[in-house]
Amino acid sequence: MPQHPTDPACIFCKIVAGTIPCLKVIEDDRLLAFLDIGPLSCGHTLIVPKGHYATLDQMPDDLAGACAAAAPRLSRAIKAATGASAWNLLQNNGRLSGQAVDHVHFHIIPRREADGLGYRWNPTKLDAEEGRTLLAAIQKAL
Ligand code: 5GP
Ligand code: ZN
Repeated sequence: MPQHPTDPACIFCKIVAGTIPCLKVIEDDRLLAFLDIGPLSCGHTLIVPKGHYATLDQMPDDLAGACAAAAPRLSRAIKAATGASAWNLLQNNGRLSGQAVDHVHFHIIPRREADGLGYRWNPTKLDAEEGRTLLAAIQKAL
């Protein structure tokens, strides 16, 4: 198994190492899922890789894939346990996005009628010419 970095000062590395307790939902050799200490809704769960990477774009694909692959099973169990009918998968990268803990984590946030959760979603219109230029730039960077 590849050696992944850890940060002794990181709260999620401490949770992974077991030096800070958590309410553990599942664990395997690549990830840990536990209940969020400040839930946005009942059942709010975090999936955390066993490796200290600040943001998703810094992560190895296979470790990120392992975390994402846990989401369907976990969400089914969380829905069954909490009665939530919908849920968001949220993953913040960088302060501007709302990330507070610099160790990659995926939020599973159960949603219910009139739960008061939400975010601003103000769609604009993609200009065709700008879209083509943007597409070329992204594909060049891949
Ligand atoms: P972010 O804003 O970085 O995407 O989300 C960080 C999340 O980690 C927050 O929802 C916060 O409640 C949760 N969190 C921070 N510290 C702890 C902790 O020590 N234990 C647990 N279980 N969750 C934590
Ligand atoms: Zn960490």
